[in-house]
Amino acid sequence: MTDAESDIQRLMVETITEKFYAGRGRRRGTHFETLVGIIISQNTNDKNTLKAITQLRRRVGIDPDSILSAPKEEIINCLRPAGLYNVKAPRIIELARRVKEELGGSREIEKMSEEEVSKFLSKIKGIGPKTVDVFMAFSKGADIVPVDTHVSRVSKRLGIADEKDDYFKIRKKLENLLPTGKRLEAHLAIINFGRRICIARRPKCPICPVERYCPSKKLFYPLK
Ligand code: SF4
Repeated sequence: MTDAESDIQRLMVETITEKFYAGRGRRRGTHFETLVGIIISQNTNDKNTLKAITQLRRRVGIDPDSILSAPKEEIINCLRPAGLYNVKAPRIIELARRVKEELGGSREIEKMSEEEVSKFLSKIKGIGPKTVDVFMAFSKGADIVPVDTHVSRVSKRLGIADEKDDYFKIRKKLENLLPTGKRLEAHLAIINFGRRICIARRPKCPICPVERYCPSKKLFYPLK
């Protein structure tokens, strides 16, 4: 890639970050609660995530002991508003079991280094690199760009990533364009942009702030 091309990509990401970053939101609770929240939030929106977390907190409790002593059906019922409850409940139970058995409790997560947490979480079935990265960025302050479905789609449409790029390649390419300290902001802004403008089915290119530079615009609006 030429310097001019990478300058344009940087400009597009900076523009999106500037216009679509709406703050970090409030994340309360322990590291264990954050992890459970990330699992619940997979493939659903914030409203449904909040409903499920609230139910789980009230009816079961969000700590390894409470999760492990509750009937699985009860956990599933709490997670229903967030969908995929039959997948998410076993993941949360497995997380609670590993935290309890291997770490002795959730407080240990708070004390672990970035590297230790990342290694521990990566070994848990159902916790993929995105979940690990979101946790690391929000709870441990890691300077990375987690790649969710919106970040992946937007990066490919902007020509930053290739169709065949895997998770780590996309993340690396984005991080190369962003100064340190701005990566989580960019992650959140791109998600917002992907939900509102560069939507999956029919992106709103005519009102997109980077349409004059985007190589994909002509695919969706060939006559404009
Ligand atoms: S021009 Fe269209 S395809 Fe390109 S980033 Fe904007 S909305 Fe997405």
